[in-house]
Amino acid sequence: MDCIFCKIIKKEIPGTFVFEDEQCVAFRDMNPQAPTHVLIVPKKHIKKIADASEADKNLIGHLFIAANEMAQKEKLKDYRLVINNGAEAGQSVWHIHLH
Ligand code: 5GP
Ligand code: ZN
Repeated sequence: MDCIFCKIIKKEIPGTFVFEDEQCVAFRDMNPQAPTHVLIVPKKHIKKIADASEADKNLIGHLFIAANEMAQKEKLKDYRLVINNGAEAGQSVWHIHLH
């Protein structure tokens, strides 16, 4: 599959990983928009949040808990979580990710 994030997850192309577990990975954004800018990405390829279904609810919840762990590791007290859904909302990579 021609998906840049799937390739990073499979370590076929490099990423600066800060977290990984059985369901997701987190790596640094290549074009950071904040002093700390990490992408939290499920290992399952889902194109956009609107395509997630009831069967994905544990996985989607897991991404937020992983974000908490990540923030603790990075010693971030306050942080913002962003999901862009669809091109008009600024989505440019078609694999769900939390900024
Ligand atoms: P979106 O616009 O889809 O919400 O966010 C995509 C993000 O992925 C952007 O912030 C962009 O900088 C980042 N990005 C795109 N390609 C790569 C890549 O190959 N490696 C990394 N680390 N980040 C990427
Ligand atoms: Zn993918």
